[in-house]
Amino acid sequence: MNMNRRDALKVGAVSVAAVAATAMTGCTEAEAKPAGKAVSEKVLAKHQIVVIGGGFGGLTVAKSLKKKDKNFNVLVIEKNDTFMSCPFSNANIGKLDGISLSTFVFDYGQPVEKYGYGMLKAEVTAINREAKEIYTTHGIIKYDILVLSPGIAYDYEGQFPTWSKEKIEHVVRETPAALIPGAEHVALERQLANMEDGDVVITVPNGKFRCPPAPFERASMIAAYMKKEDIQGKVIILNPKSKFAKYGAFMESWKDLYDDRIVHMPQSVILDVDPKAKTITFKTVVERTDVVGLGGLESVKKTIKYEVLNLIPNNKANPVVEMATLETSKDSFGKVLMNGCSFQTKTDKDIYAIGDVVAHAIPPSGQTASWSGKQCADEIAHRLHGKAYTLAVKTAPVKAGNVCFSMVGDRPEEAIMVTHDFSWTGKVIKGKGHVPKAPSGKFRSEGTAKATRNWYNGAMADLFS
Ligand SMILES: Cc1cc2nc3c(=O)[nH]c(=O)nc-3n(C[C@H](O)[C@H](O)[C@H](O)COP(=O)(O)OP(=O)(O)OC[C@H]3O[C@@H](n4cnc5c(N)ncnc54)[C@H](O)[C@@H]3O)c2cc1C
Repeated sequence: MNMNRRDALKVGAVSVAAVAATAMTGCTEAEAKPAGKAVSEKVLAKHQIVVIGGGFGGLTVAKSLKKKDKNFNVLVIEKNDTFMSCPFSNANIGKLDGISLSTFVFDYGQPVEKYGYGMLKAEVTAINREAKEIYTTHGIIKYDILVLSPGIAYDYEGQFPTWSKEKIEHVVRETPAALIPGAEHVALERQLANMEDGDVVITVPNGKFRCPPAPFERASMIAAYMKKEDIQGKVIILNPKSKFAKYGAFMESWKDLYDDRIVHMPQSVILDVDPKAKTITFKTVVERTDVVGLGGLESVKKTIKYEVLNLIPNNKANPVVEMATLETSKDSFGKVLMNGCSFQTKTDKDIYAIGDVVAHAIPPSGQTASWSGKQCADEIAHRLHGKAYTLAVKTAPVKAGNVCFSMVGDRPEEAIMVTHDFSWTGKVIKGKGHVPKAPSGKFRSEGTAKATRNWYNGAMADLFS
């Protein structure tokens, strides 16, 4: 056991607590009320534009609306006390220089003060579209225009239909997914800090999921961390698909930097997990060995032991989408169907949606959420000013609408990237990806790692200062 790692974690936990405490002292009276699920029938207020979700999309649309017209009456409803960024959070797992949990946690006081939108710390529990009312844990908010940016939820029930509620709760606690801001990131960091020699297993969701390169960046950062701390073991990725985002760039980096420490197991479907025994059972495909000379692949069931399991379940749209009774795609994610080349929903002209939940074929990323937030603010501002508006992407492609970096190495820090150009297909806004190589001929470079840090700092400055 490495005591230094445990000591470092204690310091990290204290700094996050300090940030959270600072954020609480900046709360408004409404925010300071105790959290709870009790739904009050009391009408608290009416706002011209209400945004559900104070994440990447929600904060961007709120700020952009106020920049377009300071007289717009904008309220953001957010259930968490503080903002926590998922982008760049894998750098914390890798223990890159100067990074700690407090790098990702921000208080909402600063943007509220600077841009002048309102913020209610409450959880949305129901939406009545006919009455244009949002039910929250503190009371009812009325709206003229509603923007949804609630992000994702986990679909343990859909992926593991035979698991009991108790088993799901146990698995959630013991094998943190860390794909949604919150304590699960702290839990995963703690487990890695306390781990003995042994393997770390990461499971990849099926279907649409938040930030498709995230599990693979995480594998890179865990491998970097294990190497640095001299922890013996592998990082095993169980992927239901054969390939993944930035595939060639990740594979090249892993081969160069980690020998065979990172093992990608394609076509691997999880069957069961036993958090007490620390075992995971899955179906996978291997080369046939039973009949000599026949070759080919066969499906086998395997059970392996893990030291830390990062079980990332399938994703679905946040329940807020269902509360709004909007038309959604028929897949297991349930993406919000949009009204043509727009961020207005197909179902209700007074409800807009942005970020991870939209059915446009653009990557579910923070950068895209921010882009869609700006587009949506433009649309709403034109509408409220009585002017016609067409999204620029309808007439000309948007170059690098999404730029997504992934850290792959430490000492020296190196990263890879993908850019997506956005265009209108006549049905949806679509993103076409390109993974560039560095001048060295390799995908990864130190320059891209610097760009990753710059992108993150810029994104946070855009939301908070
Ligand atoms: C490990 C990891 C790494 C990533 N790296 C990158 C990256 O490098 N670059 C990049 O661009 N993207 C990255 N992403 C993706 C990015 O985090 C998301 O795509 C982005 O946050 C989506 O924005 P959003 O506004 O849709 O949702 P979020 O940012 O999740 O915001 C949703 C908000 O809604 C709130 N909410 C939900 N339900 C309710 C309710 N009922 N009542 C009130 N509030 C509610 C939530 O608390 C949350 O604050 C990464 C993600 C992960 C997990």
